[in-house]
Amino acid sequence: MDRILNYVDGAFVAPVDGGYLDNYQPRDGTVYGHLPDSTAADVERAVAAAKAAFPAWQKLKRAERAQYLYRIADAIEKKLDLFAVAESRDQGKPVHLARSMDIPRAIENFRFFAGAILHQQEKAFQTSPEVLNYTRREPMGVAGLISPWNLPLYLLTWKIAPALAAGNTAVAKPSELTPATAFLLAQVLDEVGLPKGVCNLVFGLGEKAGDALVAHPDVPLISFTGGTETAAIIGQRAAPLYKKTSFELGGKNPALIFADCDLESTLNTTVRSSFLNQGEICLCTSRLFVQESLLPKFTELFVERVRQLKVGDPESPDSFMGPLVSAEHLDKVQGFVERSRAQGHKVLCGGERVAPQASLLKGYYFAPTVISTTDANAEIMQQEVFGPVVTLTPFKDYADAVAKANATRYGLAATIWTQNLDTAHHAAADIKAGQIWVNTWMLRDLRVPFGGMKDSGVGREGGDYSLEFYTEEKNVCLQLGRNRL
Ligand code: NAD
Repeated sequence: MDRILNYVDGAFVAPVDGGYLDNYQPRDGTVYGHLPDSTAADVERAVAAAKAAFPAWQKLKRAERAQYLYRIADAIEKKLDLFAVAESRDQGKPVHLARSMDIPRAIENFRFFAGAILHQQEKAFQTSPEVLNYTRREPMGVAGLISPWNLPLYLLTWKIAPALAAGNTAVAKPSELTPATAFLLAQVLDEVGLPKGVCNLVFGLGEKAGDALVAHPDVPLISFTGGTETAAIIGQRAAPLYKKTSFELGGKNPALIFADCDLESTLNTTVRSSFLNQGEICLCTSRLFVQESLLPKFTELFVERVRQLKVGDPESPDSFMGPLVSAEHLDKVQGFVERSRAQGHKVLCGGERVAPQASLLKGYYFAPTVISTTDANAEIMQQEVFGPVVTLTPFKDYADAVAKANATRYGLAATIWTQNLDTAHHAAADIKAGQIWVNTWMLRDLRVPFGGMKDSGVGREGGDYSLEFYTEEKNVCLQLGRNRL
């Protein structure tokens, strides 16, 4: 049975109070390991180590810090299969998806920010012939990094890589539901000889270890990805301490499917955007709005394809979806569907738990579900389900489509399906979401701003945006003297 340890000051250590949590395997619902139930005492040690490591780390040449990041990327790549299996076992996604998406994207995070820090530019302003202003960007110290369970390594490394590249040291608190790849990452950091204390990982519960990190006076910035309600709690804790915060939060992402779309590619991508990773990607589409004239045909073809998606053992190469992350999450998703059904919305397919095979009866599998509704205020249209459930709703015209897309508190992402350039550009402007995809989904460019509008987040991640967040900018104003030689 696997036992995970904290990684503090370059050493693998047991939690100070000796408490451990069970780590469940969604595939069959069994406990397959334990992780530290860390307390404020563990966070205290990790922050002290990171604080002590900061002066030397920030003084390294950028190229030297970049070299460490490249080495980390190479070391993960050598163990790609190990990471992919661990991620699947912890989170439930098929191994092939972890191998093709999550782990390569985590590797890319390190490579990208190793390059980005070498190309970062500072600004200079010539105020007059004798006056020069120039800016310096300086790392802030110990970065507190808190990440969720759905893309555990990818989202964690999207914080660690820019934080370290910019010259900060870090204390990271991965999700208690998916600690395995973060533990493997700690082993990689150790192997590549990252100076001790530069990156520390403390495992445990959000309300305990996470809260201690947020409340620690020696942690001037918190980068958080997770639920919208959690961010409100963290914000209340961090604000009186004047911490810099970045919040990447939940979504209720619409797809606007116009009658003139390329139907085949719309169907293919929308099936994926709705159900990839069991619908447990913050960017997954969860509300489909289809123009009335296309609705009957779209519904028939979409539901037919969703029924064919294979929910199965995540270890099997032909499973499209694995189990949900936990028993609690399965109950939550099922509850949403049952209440929706009770309110009279029509479940077109799915809507129930499934067991792919006898040996996996206790796994957390749920069938991909499509619900037809026209009630914009229904719970299923307003609340983030974060599972394999999408709603299907007609719209009349452009104005109706945009109004429906915007009718939630969230504004993370949206997809627009049309062949009309005008419609695409207008909708991109009119929809309140931080990420708009036109005739595609999940294409990634690490230089572009990523983050939500409305209750989906505050702040942006991505190339310069991350390097900006993990540093403070200062201006130096220089007056040339009159006494020239
Ligand atoms: P969550 O908010 O429950 O937990 C996220 C992290 O915060 C975990 O590490 C948890 O331990 C920690 N935490 C919980 N309470 C805390 C507290 N009081 N103080 C400090 N830390 C605390 O979210 P989750 O269930 O792990 O993740 C799912 C959510 O994340 C969904 O809403 C999803 O949309 C969102 N998400 C957003 C993005 C994005 O980029 N916008 C990406 C992935 C997931």
